[in-house]
Amino acid sequence: MSIKKLGLIGYPLTHSFSARYFADKFEREGIIGFSYGNFEIPKIEDFPEILKNNPDVIGFNVTIPYKEQIIPYLDELDEEAQEIGAVNTIKVLRTESGIKLKGYNTDIYGFRETLKPLLKMHHYKALILGTGGAAKAVEYVLRKIGLSVLYISRNPKSESERSYEDLNQFAVQDFPVIVNSTPIGMHPQIDDCPSIPYEHLNSNNLLYDLIYNPDQTLFMKKGAEQGAITQNGLGMLKLQAEKAWEIWNT
Ligand code: NAP
Repeated sequence: MSIKKLGLIGYPLTHSFSARYFADKFEREGIIGFSYGNFEIPKIEDFPEILKNNPDVIGFNVTIPYKEQIIPYLDELDEEAQEIGAVNTIKVLRTESGIKLKGYNTDIYGFRETLKPLLKMHHYKALILGTGGAAKAVEYVLRKIGLSVLYISRNPKSESERSYEDLNQFAVQDFPVIVNSTPIGMHPQIDDCPSIPYEHLNSNNLLYDLIYNPDQTLFMKKGAEQGAITQNGLGMLKLQAEKAWEIWNT
């Protein structure tokens, strides 16, 4: 039986979640005939070589720093990946006329499905901390659901961005949903947290942290102490992986 290969493209990949997740999934669900490996490439120009040297590969996940850089190597993007300009999943289609690569963004699905059950009527405005690739998926989902969105950045570059210094009592109460899309507070820097006025948070706030290690970040802990609802990024991470699995197998 030939093995269908899957893999993660990124650099560095020392603490990759995906390889462990899929190994556990294959064992737990008795899935045979698949393997999942890491393709740690120092530059995106190495991607065609990976494709060439792995004729059994049927799909990839893509992580930092290549979610945007991978796009010129793809033949097609699905609508959502196209709209936000970031890809975290690739389906490799082998046809008689050659290989075709289609890009998707399953972070969108993972964030949407884990956020929706937490939203209440008063959650109609959101602050997104950070302006990187993950923040784009977050903004896309929030706007689609109907929330107004404001970015918080160390270096605001447009009208839709503000600085951390602009955050006061009124801002965190007027924008009750706050999504940490920065790496601040991620293991091993677990004693760090984004600089927001935590003392003005209350039970109307919903603090969603994209970070999944540790389980409870300092951002979440400080929010919970003020009565806010909190959520970490683990559910999102698992759902984005499951959605990728579905894409590779349909
Ligand atoms: P990124 O591009 O490295 O950083 C995101 C943004 O955070 C940057 O653009 C920057 O925005 C801000 N930032 C970076 N370092 C900072 C610092 N030291 N202090 C303050 N702000 C800083 O990362 P990303 O790919 O968007 O991912 C962000 C986080 O989400 C990571 O922790 C990642 O692991 C997590 N993530 C989780 C999932 C999941 O499934 N749970 C999926 C994707 C990503 P400004 O320059 O504008 O301030």
